[in-house]
Amino acid sequence: MVNIDTPLALRLPKTAARKLADGGFETVGDLLSYAPIRYYQWGKLTDISSLSVGEDQAILAQVVSASIVQNRSGKGVRFLVHVTDGSARLTCTFFAKNAYMLSHHQRLLRPGAAVLIAGKVGEYHGSLQIVQPEFEEIEEGSAIDAARRAGRPIPIYRAISGLPSWKIASLIDALLTADDDPIGEEVLPEHIRAVHALFPHDRAIRMLHQPQTPVDWETARRSLAWEEALVLQTALLGSRTGVMAQGDRAFWDSSSSSSSSRSAPPLPSPTESAENGDNDLVAELIRSLPFELTSAQRQAWKQIEDDIALTEPMQRLLQGDVGSGKTIVALLAMLRAVRAGYQAAMLAPTEVLARQHWYSLTTILDRAGVHVPVHLLTSKRPSVEKNQVLTALASGEPSIVVGTHALLQEGVEIPKLGLVVVDEQHRFGVAQREQLRYGRTPIPHLLVMTATPIPRTIAMTVFGDLDVTAMSELPSGRKPVETFLVDERNTVWVDRMWQRAREEIDGGGRVYVVCPRIDGDEPEEDDQKSDETGPGTRSLPAAMEIVEELRRNPTFDGVNIGLAHGRAKPEDNAAAFAAFADGSVPLLVATTVVEVGVDVPEATMMVILDGTRFGLSQLHQLRGRVGRSEAASVCMITHPGELSETSAERLDAIAKTNDGFALAEVDLRLRKEGNVLGKNQSGRVSGLQFLSVRRDATVISAARETAREILEEDPTLERHPKLAGAARQRAEEELVWMESS
Ligand code: ADP
Ligand code: MG
Repeated sequence: MVNIDTPLALRLPKTAARKLADGGFETVGDLLSYAPIRYYQWGKLTDISSLSVGEDQAILAQVVSASIVQNRSGKGVRFLVHVTDGSARLTCTFFAKNAYMLSHHQRLLRPGAAVLIAGKVGEYHGSLQIVQPEFEEIEEGSAIDAARRAGRPIPIYRAISGLPSWKIASLIDALLTADDDPIGEEVLPEHIRAVHALFPHDRAIRMLHQPQTPVDWETARRSLAWEEALVLQTALLGSRTGVMAQGDRAFWDSSSSSSSSRSAPPLPSPTESAENGDNDLVAELIRSLPFELTSAQRQAWKQIEDDIALTEPMQRLLQGDVGSGKTIVALLAMLRAVRAGYQAAMLAPTEVLARQHWYSLTTILDRAGVHVPVHLLTSKRPSVEKNQVLTALASGEPSIVVGTHALLQEGVEIPKLGLVVVDEQHRFGVAQREQLRYGRTPIPHLLVMTATPIPRTIAMTVFGDLDVTAMSELPSGRKPVETFLVDERNTVWVDRMWQRAREEIDGGGRVYVVCPRIDGDEPEEDDQKSDETGPGTRSLPAAMEIVEELRRNPTFDGVNIGLAHGRAKPEDNAAAFAAFADGSVPLLVATTVVEVGVDVPEATMMVILDGTRFGLSQLHQLRGRVGRSEAASVCMITHPGELSETSAERLDAIAKTNDGFALAEVDLRLRKEGNVLGKNQSGRVSGLQFLSVRRDATVISAARETAREILEEDPTLERHPKLAGAARQRAEEELVWMESS
C-alpha cells in the first residue's frame, strides 16, 4: 500500500520537498489530497474571460503575438506577449534592462507556441494582464502534452510556495506512477459507494489528478467530498455519544469514556415540584420584564427548558436574527441553573462584548429585582478584581459569570458549573467551544448563540454537533431599518447624510459612525477584500481622523462626539459607550467594536463609512445596532462609487433586505470558497479539502443522515474501524465559520 504518511522529502527532489514543506505539505498524503482548482481541456478553453483579478492563476494558452517595446521613459524595455485560449486574450508583460536579457523569453514565447503561464492576474487599461509570470513551454512528450493531444482534462493547481501548477502536477504524477498499490484507506462503506455511484478512495485520488474524461474528475471530486462529509458528520454526531473518545485526550468526553457517565445536572422547572412558583427565578424574571416575550423567544425557551431538565447534556445552537432577543433567552437558562444550585458561565469572544453582556444581564436583573450574582472575568481587569471573581467562582456559590477566553485559562475553578453559554460569533472552533466542559462530571449543558443567522450548510458543517433553534421574529413594534447607499464622491449626499445625523441627535436619537480603520497608518488587516477594490490605493476612513473631521464640521456644533476602537483601553471604551448610552455623547465614532451585542435602544442612525470594507454579515450586524426601539431608524452606507461586482451585489443586498437569514445565503454565494471557513491554528485554511459548503449542500445533508444511521446501527463504530479512525482524527481539527469578512 502507498503509505500516505511517508514524508515527501523521501520521495521527491529536495528543493521541491522543501518548498512543499514551506506550504504546509509534509507527507505523501498531504500532496495527494491537494485538489486542483480546475481542469483545462484543450480546445475547450474559454476560461481566460472568467479569471478573477488579484488571484494567482495558472493558464494554458497559445501565444498570439510577442513584441519588445521600448519604455517611454527611455529606460529599459518591455516584452509584451499576447496569449489566447481561443476566446479571450491576456497580456503577459516582462520588464528588463535591455532586449538581450529577454532572449530566453523570446525564444520560448513565440507566436504559435503552447505555453503554461502562472502569476497574479491584474488589470491594465481594461484588459487582463500578468506581470512577470512564470512560464513554461509545453514540451512534446510531456504528461501535459500527452493529455492535451488526447483531449484529456488537465488539472490546474494553485501554486504552492512558488511551485507553479505544472510542477505540482509532475510531482504528483511521480508519486502516483511510482506505485501501483492502493492509496490510503477506504473509509466509505461499500453500500454507500454503490448507492451514490462513488469511486473507491484509491480510484478517486488517481482520477482527481489524472482524469481521462471530465466525468472522471467530477466523480472523483464528489467521492472525496462525500468521504469528507461522512467523516465530518460522524465526528460531530459521534462526539455527542462519546464514541469519539480516545483515552482521556478527547475534548468532549468526560474523564471516563463510558457513555453512562455522560450525564448532565438536570435543571428542571421548580414549579413542577414546589407548591408555589415564587422562588422560581425564571417566572419572576419573565413577570417583571417591561415587555412580553415574542412567540419565537417563548418557543426557543421551551425547547431549552425541556433540554436542560434532562440528564442528557443539552447541545443546542440558538440562531437568531440581530435584535431578536437572544440574551434574555440565554439568561432564562442561566437562571434555571442558578435556581438549581449551579453556576452558569457565558463565554464571549471579545472584551467589549463580555462587558456588554455583563452590563445587559445585570441591568435586566436589577430592573426586575431578581438578585443573582453576575461576575465579569476578562484578562484586562485589574488583578485585585480578578482575584475576587476567581475566589467567588471557586466557592461554588450559585452565580452567573460572563467572560472572555480568560474563563478558559488554568486556575479558573468553577466547581458547580451546570450550564455553558457560548456567544459564538462563529469564531470559536469546536475544541474551544467545548473547553469549559472538558472532563467534568456531570457535563454542563451547552447553549451556543450565533451573532447572526448562518446558512444551513454551514450550520451542519461547523455546528453539526448541535441541535438548532432559530428565532427570526423581531419584537413587535420594531420598524425595519431603512438602508441607503451613499456614493462618497457625491458631496451633496454626504453633507445631507451628516445633516440627517444632526437631526436624529436633535430629536433625541444617537448616531454611530463606523470606520473600517482606527488610524491612517495601520496595515490593511483584511487581505481578503483588498483584491476587490484593487491594491490599496485609496485611503480608508479612519476613526481617529473622522472624529476630528466631525468635530470641526459646523453641522455638529455643540454636539459631543466620542471615540471607541479596538486599541483603546477597555475602560475608555466602556466610558465612551456609557456616555453614548446616557446621551451625553450622542455621536460615537468607532470601529467594528460596535459590531456585535452593543445594545443602546435610543440609537436611531448608523453611518458606515466605506461599506465595501465590511463583509455582509458584518454590515447586517452593524445595522442591527439601530432599530432597537419603536422609533424609526436609518442606516447609511457610503461607498467609493466604483465597485467590483461582488461589492455591488453585497451592498445591494444589504440595502434591499433586513432578513438576516436571506443575507446569510447571499453572503455564502458571494464568497470565495476559501473565505467561508476560517484558518485553523497552523494557519492553513481549515480542514475541508474537497467539500464545498457552497456547492455540496445535498452531499452534506445526505452524509449527515448516513452518519446518523451508521451510529444508530453501530454505536461504538466497531464495524467501521476506518471511519472511526478518520472521524477521531477529524475531531481534533477545528472548523470555524468566519463571520467577520
Ligand atoms: P440579539 O438577539 O441581537 O442578541 P438582544 O438580546 O441584544 O438581541 O436584544 C435586543 C434588544 O431587544 C434588547 O434591548 C432587549 O432588551 C430587547 N428585547 C428582547 N426581547 C424583547 C421583547 N420580547 N420585546 C421587546 N424588546 C425585547
Ligand atoms: Mg446579542
